[in-house]
Amino acid sequence: MLNPKELMLASTSVSGEYLTECPACGWECTHFDKVFALVRFREDAEPRYMSLDHRGVVEPLTKEQYPLSSRGTGRRHEFLLEGRCEACEKVWYESFRQHKGTTLRNTTDLD
Ligand SMILES: [Zn+2]
Repeated sequence: MLNPKELMLASTSVSGEYLTECPACGWECTHFDKVFALVRFREDAEPRYMSLDHRGVVEPLTKEQYPLSSRGTGRRHEFLLEGRCEACEKVWYESFRQHKGTTLRNTTDLD
C-alpha cells in the first residue's frame, strides 16, 4: 500500500489525510490549480502537450510551453501537478512519468 507521506514532499497527517507543505518554506497553505500532461498515442510516439486549469480550460501547448520540457520524458505519458505556496509564492511540480512499465514520481521546481 502506498504511504501518502511518501507521495508528496513534506506532508503532515491530519485525521488520516495529508497536508502538502511548501518544499521551500514548509508553509501548509499550498494550492494545486493547474495540471500539465504529456501524452502519447502509443509508446515512443510523438508527444502531445496540454494543460488543464482550475476554470476547466484545456489548452494545447508546444513543447517549449511545457514545464520541465528540457528533461527526459520517458517513453509514454507524464502528468504534472503545479503547486504554489501562498506564503512565499514558490512554484513546483509533482510529476508522475511512465517509462518502461514503471511510474516515476518526483517533486521538481524550475530553479
Ligand atoms: Zn513557501
